[in-house]
Amino acid sequence: MRAVTCRFCRSDAGDLVLDLGMQPACEYFPPLDDPVTDPVFPLRLWLCAACGLAQLADDAEIPDEPEGLEPAALARQRADAVATAHAAGLLPVGATVAEGATPHGGSWQAELESLGLRFVADDTVADVVVDGTFGMMHATDQAAALDRLVDRLAPDGVLLFQFHSLAAILREEQWNAVRLGHYAYYSLPALLGMLEVRGLGVTSAWSFPLYGGTVMIAARRGAVADTSVARIVDDELASGVLDARALQKLQEGVDTSTAALRQLAEDASGAGQRVYAYSAASRAVALLYLADLHDDLLLGVADAAPAKHGCRMPGTTVPIISPSDLIAAGPDVVLMFVTDLLPEVRRALPEIEACGGRWMDAGSGAVATATT
Ligand SMILES: [Zn+2]
Repeated sequence: MRAVTCRFCRSDAGDLVLDLGMQPACEYFPPLDDPVTDPVFPLRLWLCAACGLAQLADDAEIPDEPEGLEPAALARQRADAVATAHAAGLLPVGATVAEGATPHGGSWQAELESLGLRFVADDTVADVVVDGTFGMMHATDQAAALDRLVDRLAPDGVLLFQFHSLAAILREEQWNAVRLGHYAYYSLPALLGMLEVRGLGVTSAWSFPLYGGTVMIAARRGAVADTSVARIVDDELASGVLDARALQKLQEGVDTSTAALRQLAEDASGAGQRVYAYSAASRAVALLYLADLHDDLLLGVADAAPAKHGCRMPGTTVPIISPSDLIAAGPDVVLMFVTDLLPEVRRALPEIEACGGRWMDAGSGAVATATT
């Protein structure tokens, strides 16, 4: 087993906090008729004892990820984040902007240009630097990735950075948010330290409900924090974001949630019900793979992205189908993997419930009712 060195501070002091074993790539969906011999890679989460950055312990040469369709929940988050930064006076008309990599799409460019900001060439510094679309987490070298953002920042510029907080992963036991290709899992306390090393302070931080807790920060050189920062830091520390033992509790959730999912599928299937699921999201991959669910129990996973149709869930025989195929199949149960998406999916596919099907939270087994 290779020694782990921090992707940011290069310390080798730290703890393994979660081990998901060998996992198939979670954003590469093999053609349905390919034999199920997908390559697998180690998936382990490690917490640096020196800088507090939670990160994948291992590098993996995973296949290129096709760009999925942006869910409405993510587009809404982008609009909320832009509106919040605008209301805080951080996006003045005429300001220049640089944006970090956006490997999942969802660039802020159109929104910021409509507010009168101007994107500048790659080698130019800018008044506003955004990593708004969860870009930096894809970098294997976190120190180099942060340098790339900070190097673009004009002397009095502002860096806007968004992350799905490790505190939310802990609070909601979202162990399957840990996935291949996402190398860093930020908390605000760790991020403050990382930015401080680069001479930046966080002026303000805002919390959003996406994924149970998404945080945006504004950072500047030599900045002093307002009370919003201390409030989120206190909250995240209380969740245990710097505490290896608190993070190690995620491991318990792996066995219970995969066993519960398998039981749910077996019970429904045993009762003669036809079980499907919705969204071939990356976080569904480890869940299905560890639950060892195949097309005998789970008849299909519907997804809106046409590129995934005719493919299967990695490491399983479960086909990915279109939403219209899902409706045509007349499912009794549709398991929902990403509960944030439930309202928009129910609105988009009223036929499921009109034909007697039920939406169920794949995590809790709760049935969605008219009030949820
Ligand atoms: Zn470190």
